[in-house]
Amino acid sequence: MIRTRIAPAPTGPCHVGIARTALFNYLFTRKHGGTFVMRLEDTDVARSRKEFEQDVYDSLRWLCLDWDEGPDVGGDFGPYRQSERKQIYQAALQKLLEANLAYPCFCTPEELEEERNRRLKLKLPPRYKGKCPTLSRAEQEAAKAQGKPYSIRFRMPDKTIAFEDMIRGKVQFDGAEIGDFVIVKPDGDFIFHLSNVVDDIEMKITHVIRGEDHVSNTPRHLALAEALGATPPTYGHIPLILNPDRSKMSKRKNPTSVSDYRQWGYLPEAMVNFLALIGWSSGTEREVFSLDELVAAFSIEAVGRAGAIFDIEKLNWLNGNYIRALPLEELQKRLRPYLPDADPDYLRRVIPLIQERLKRLDEAPALTEFFFRDELEYDPALLIAKKHTAEESRAALSQVLDRLSTIEEFGIESLENGLRGLVEELGWKTGHLFMAIRVAVTGSTATPPLFETMSVLGKERCLTRIRRAIEKLSAMSGERT
Ligand code: GLU
Repeated sequence: MIRTRIAPAPTGPCHVGIARTALFNYLFTRKHGGTFVMRLEDTDVARSRKEFEQDVYDSLRWLCLDWDEGPDVGGDFGPYRQSERKQIYQAALQKLLEANLAYPCFCTPEELEEERNRRLKLKLPPRYKGKCPTLSRAEQEAAKAQGKPYSIRFRMPDKTIAFEDMIRGKVQFDGAEIGDFVIVKPDGDFIFHLSNVVDDIEMKITHVIRGEDHVSNTPRHLALAEALGATPPTYGHIPLILNPDRSKMSKRKNPTSVSDYRQWGYLPEAMVNFLALIGWSSGTEREVFSLDELVAAFSIEAVGRAGAIFDIEKLNWLNGNYIRALPLEELQKRLRPYLPDADPDYLRRVIPLIQERLKRLDEAPALTEFFFRDELEYDPALLIAKKHTAEESRAALSQVLDRLSTIEEFGIESLENGLRGLVEELGWKTGHLFMAIRVAVTGSTATPPLFETMSVLGKERCLTRIRRAIEKLSAMSGERT
């Protein structure tokens, strides 16, 4: 039975890297009918916060990556917050100390620093080489009795540690180069290595899929599992997410919180699809996948080893695709937070006019603004058609006004017939007249198709706006462009 987990530290808003790691775990688990666990690695008390914990839940649930066990849903292997599991780590630590596989280290920070620098100068790996590994029990007790602060180190075996990574194949490290590492800080806090390994054992995790930045931790984790007499999980390290310049994705160059992307109106479907393509490919040209389709198509071996770029253009393209595919009702529902005050019936008629062009939901207010404003603001010079004067444009718009007044129903066809007829009568170029009308009724030169737009705006709004345009032109009559 496959059991996987996502193990975020709630020390900041949920990062897209966490979302992608969760996604790969989710796909792998669902594909194999396993159990997906949420475990919060909140041992850093000073930096862990409840609001970040909530942000992890909200962000991953928004992406529909639900978990089967976790702090908020329970399960047989809880508690699922590391801050609530100290006794479990204490028991594991006791086991290691009794077997002499871990020992107290009394070296001061200054001594450690000095030793480190000495080794660096000699171009030796900066591993721990102090005197504490060989202290006798009596010496340890004596130092403790003197009240000397101490950390606890794990005895890293001096041997090659190799493992078969699900993505990277065979990986090996020299334990001697790693050296004995700290598992408990002088203040008694457990270091990530110990709690992570103990929890994976206790929670019966079979597969660990995590970021490549943890590769060098894995030999430590394998050695710890062995020392605790446990069979370790199988590990797979997924490539880092990179900025377009191939540097590690950072807040400075790209926003990194899932909640930002959510707020900007990326659809969760698009986000999930996009995150899957950072590092994974189906091996075909196909790029658009729903979550269920990803579960079917995904294989962890098909995840590449090279870092993968966070390509915002691709996300925009995917998002536009998903937006265009939404049924009207659904798109209206999703746009509601961005257009909270819009009359629902009117909005239902406006949306089809922007659906094609919408790449992010948060673009909707700007794209639809002219549908809702009472007074348009624009440069009246835009009303003056090329090769025509302000007076000629005013006269033409007056004719337009008269013609439109005679049209009962502002349907697309009746508008088109009425206005195309007028173009001929006036002897204007179609494009010139229609641009003047477009600016008059929308305040902009780039809009959805004119007749559809006018039909949705309705007769009253269009006539009022054309009257306003005529007033503006009267005020500047005589000017040439
Ligand atoms: N808390 C660790 C992290 O967020 C978990 C690493 C792991 O998945 O083992 O990087």
